[in-house]
Amino acid sequence: MLKKQSNGHSDDEELTLINVGIHIVCGGQMDVHIISETHNAVTCSRCALRVVFPRSVKTYGDLRNWLRGELNLE
Ligand SMILES: [Zn+2]
Repeated sequence: MLKKQSNGHSDDEELTLINVGIHIVCGGQMDVHIISETHNAVTCSRCALRVVFPRSVKTYGDLRNWLRGELNLE
């Protein structure tokens, strides 16, 4: 789903809100949006993919691990 370290983010780096990665399926840029007190969402600028994740996910490594579990990646 997210290309690993496509823009040089290491696993322990805190998430930024823009350009967290490239969506492999469509090539769109993926950004993080704060959507509530408890959750953020990563969205694709091209295909409208939107994945909600808890705000306890704070780093790129957390996000990769969380997505892997949630979406059964790899
Ligand atoms: Zn996409």
